[in-house]
Amino acid sequence: MQTLQDLTRDAVSTLLLSPGEQEVDRVMTICNACRYCEGFCAVFPAMARLLEFNKADIHYLANVCHNCGACLHSCQYAAPHEFAVNVPQAMAAVRPQTYGEFAWPKALGQLYQRAGLTMALATAGGLAMFLVLVLIVNQGSWLHAPLAGNFYAIFPHNLLAAMFGLVFLYVIVALGIGVRSFWRMLSPPAVSHVVMGAASLDATGNVLTLKYLDGGHGKGCNDDDDRFTQRRRVFHHFTFYGFVCCFIATSLGTIYHYFLNDPAPYPFFSLPVLFGTVGGIGLLIGPAGLLWLNLVRHPDHAVVGQQPMDRGFIALLILVSATGLVLLACRDTGVMGLLLAIHLGAVMGFFLTMPYGKFAHGVFRSAALLKSALDRRMDGLTVARNA
Ligand code: SF4
Ligand code: SF4
Repeated sequence: MQTLQDLTRDAVSTLLLSPGEQEVDRVMTICNACRYCEGFCAVFPAMARLLEFNKADIHYLANVCHNCGACLHSCQYAAPHEFAVNVPQAMAAVRPQTYGEFAWPKALGQLYQRAGLTMALATAGGLAMFLVLVLIVNQGSWLHAPLAGNFYAIFPHNLLAAMFGLVFLYVIVALGIGVRSFWRMLSPPAVSHVVMGAASLDATGNVLTLKYLDGGHGKGCNDDDDRFTQRRRVFHHFTFYGFVCCFIATSLGTIYHYFLNDPAPYPFFSLPVLFGTVGGIGLLIGPAGLLWLNLVRHPDHAVVGQQPMDRGFIALLILVSATGLVLLACRDTGVMGLLLAIHLGAVMGFFLTMPYGKFAHGVFRSAALLKSALDRRMDGLTVARNA
């Protein structure tokens, strides 16, 4: 008897494919016959398990692909061959569709897909203006006497905690609902806790090291030509670990405030400020490098309609880190309040757009890599049983 999971999977497979999904179906069918790139990344072993590609498979494969470009630069069926196989571009064209279809609420995801840069900058700018207005109403001027870095003299701590706490909760709920629906569509195999734990460790290792940006041979991606470079991996790591350091800085500030009865401002050589500074520098170097690579990337890797979303996200990250570092440098001056308002507006804009743009790719990719690790574990168990 068919399980509910099987029935759902069959229903999903009968849905009409979009043109982008049809292209992934076409290139994967050719790759499945060729299999030259089998060892490059997790896409090809996952593809080899399938005979045909339904909607769920296509979105799964598209989110496992890291767009390293290696398979395009090695492909004997790439243009000018009549097959014109371009796996990274086909996958890249489908990924925004995943974010849009699984975004919660759906209407916001579709809006961000259409006008990523506009929405990102408008959100950050609008929130910054709102906070500047609050500042003027409260203080009566852009300027004030130096406050020794005491942000809470401008915006009360409880107001900030309530505003950012609500937004953070919203982001967790929106991303959580989206990735839960995506995970259900992937129909992962039913496994024991032991297998799930081991697969989760595999997937976490692959996410934290960005294993599949190594091109399958360890030498890295193809960016603008046939050479391999580790630049994309390095700039992704600056971005990711910069974000992690900023998160640690905020968490430490929260612990100091609520559990150690030690409210901000903190001296420069305190842990929250040091983590924040290192994180801010990482979040400046990483996104600036990714923006540069985005601008010089080989045109065959890019999907023109996707660039506003990519660049909007990168611009917002640069705005967040640059305003944070300038704020730190000027925190004991009369423009601290103005800089604080602009920085908080940028951070708020970044948080609000997190579930509807490029940030989501990390979450969906992690889920897809977990499914890939689970499938590999199950294959290993089957082989061991049959031996
Ligand atoms: S990308 Fe090209 S070379 Fe690689 S498996 Fe597909 S068809 Fe073969
Ligand atoms: S990760 Fe790289 S090698 Fe794998 S499918 Fe994507 S572009 Fe090709």
